Formats: sequence, C-alpha cells, structure tokens
Amino acid sequence: MTEFDLIRRHFTRATPSAALGVGDDAALLQVGSGMELAVSTDMLVSGTHFFPDADPFLLGHKALAVNISDMAAMGAQPRWATLALALPEADEAWLEKFSAGFFALAQQHGVELIGGDTTRGPLNLCVTIMGEVPQGKALRRDGAQAGDDIWVSGALGNAALALAHLQGRVQLAAEDFAACAAALHQPAPRVALGLALRGVAHSAIDVSDGLLADLGHILESSNVGAEIYFDALPAPDALRAFAPASLDGEAARYSRAGGATLFQHCLLSGGDDYELCFTAAVARRAEMEKISAQVHLPLTRIGSIVAGSDCVVRAADGSSINIGESGYDHFR
Ligand code: ADP
Ligand code: MG
Repeated sequence: MTEFDLIRRHFTRATPSAALGVGDDAALLQVGSGMELAVSTDMLVSGTHFFPDADPFLLGHKALAVNISDMAAMGAQPRWATLALALPEADEAWLEKFSAGFFALAQQHGVELIGGDTTRGPLNLCVTIMGEVPQGKALRRDGAQAGDDIWVSGALGNAALALAHLQGRVQLAAEDFAACAAALHQPAPRVALGLALRGVAHSAIDVSDGLLADLGHILESSNVGAEIYFDALPAPDALRAFAPASLDGEAARYSRAGGATLFQHCLLSGGDDYELCFTAAVARRAEMEKISAQVHLPLTRIGSIVAGSDCVVRAADGSSINIGESGYDHFR
C-alpha cells in the first residue's frame, strides 16, 4: 500500500462544507460572514497520552475528542479538522479501526476531515480542529469577574480513577472501572454546553489537566482568585467510595500524590475528564438550571471567583485544603 492509497482508503470522506477537501496542496474553507475561525491543535503521543497497545478505535475517538473539547470550551461550533499522523507501519487492521473511531465522532459533531499529513515514525496523532463562533462571542479564559460563580459540568475524577486502576494504584470492581473507563477512553466533548454558554458565561476552559490547573489558567488570565468548596465537587459514585471518611487512615493515602488522598487527587488535579469549567454572574443561576436540562448534563456550582490571585479550596469546616500538587505538566 502506498502513502496515497492509505490516505485515500482511510482518511478521505466527503467534505461538503469545505470548498476543497483532501487531495490538493491545501484545503479551502469559507467561514460564515460575521463569524470568527477558532483554531486549536492537540497532539497525542504514544507512551505519554496512551498505552502503545491502546485500542485503535478508541484512539481515533480520543484524538478528535480532545480537540473538539477545545472548541466546546471556546463556545465554537466545530467544523473542520486536519490529522497529522506518524505510524510505525501501515497496519490495515489498525488503520481501519482508528479511522472508524475518528469518523464516528466526527460525524456525530458534523466535523469534516479536510487534510493532514502521513509519515512513518513512532506513533503520534496530531489533530488541528477548526470551528466557527460569532464575532466577539467566544468563551475566553480572560473574562472571569470577582463575584462570579464557578461551575463545572458532569463529574470530575472519572478518568484519573480509571488511570489509577490501570496503573495498579487502586483495585476497582469491574462495574466501577467500566463506569470511569468510559471517561478516560471515550470522552464526550461538551459542545452543546459550550454553545449554550455563549453570551452567558464570562469565561470557560475544558478540564484536561485537572481542575486546579485549568481553573488556574482562568484565574491567571483574568487576574482574579477563587474559592472552591471541596464538598461541592461532583464526585462520581465510583470515586465516592474513596472519600476519606469511609476509609481508615493510611488506606486512603494515594502514594504518588504526596499526602493527597486518591479522592482529593482525582477531584482536584486528575486530568483527562474534558468537562467544562466556567464562570458566570450569580444572576445566571436559574438560567444554568435550564441549560443543564437542555443539554442533559449536570452543572454544579463549585465555588466563587474572588479578588486577588489565590485559589483556596475550603473543607466543610472552612479550613483550607492544600494537596500540594497541581495538574499534569509535561516539563515539570
Ligand atoms: P503535500 O505533499 O502537499 O504535503 P501530502 O502528500 O502530504 O501533500 O498529502 C496529500 C493530500 O492528502 C493533502 O491534501 C493532505 O492534506 C491529505 N492528507 C495527508 N495525510 C492525511 C491524513 N492522515 N488525513 C487526512 N488527509 C491527509
Ligand atoms: Mg504533506
């Protein structure tokens, strides 16, 4: 199989909303009038972001999902993607499953693959996503205001709990693992929520590196601080079993996390959940309930934006929790 057979067979589909798709030196796109083009790139590297023997269907899904999630976090409608792929070999069965996973999610969100690059090399998946958002309406990181509520969608910690299980740090019952593994392997980007938050939220980010790390980006960009109510954080059922109160001391300690319990680690600094964290005026609380019903996703108020620059996590008794870790950083 030649490189071009491979591209034709596995990565060429109809692209009705592009003026020109795969096959020329560049694709051509027409952005709607009054719209801004939102562009973002996310790379998944074998051994860093996934196990080398990972299921190719799920990898295809995830490579696109993490990119679509960035569009969701901007309040943009995802439209087009490019795919740069380094493959150790042209494995037909692998490519078949990978592209099936990629295109299944692409179709679900109306995203068209309009180009890319294919080379031989250590397995590496790099997607660039493009979307549209009405001029000036994007949900940015720099719009949070003191007094805003801080919200998060869905549940936090599923992906980190599944990873802890895969790494042998905890032992989950089969059904609990299945419940949280879906978040790790097949995250559902929150596009409908991002679109519904246009003109409502003051700032937004997707939680890819952990709540504290990602909320931290909002705080830094917006020059504000935050107070998080630890007990309000939406822990999934599988994780609740690890809430420290239900365990006897040391059993709850999570070795890598330098004193943080597994429960705290998953909720505050576990990555890969791809939920949206956003801020909005207190006056928007009733509207959030409506949006939650409309997009079929729980929205939880987890804290407040405050003046200053500190992010304090409060326990129920008002004391502050310092878990001594933030999110994942590739170069730390
Ligand atoms: P060039 O030589 O101009 O870089 P390539 O030979 O790399 O072009 O690619 C040929 C065409 O196939 C281009 O339109 C490119 O965008 C597309 N393409 C290459 N790899 C992929 C891929 N993995 N997925 C989708 N399109 C791809
Ligand atoms: Mg090329």
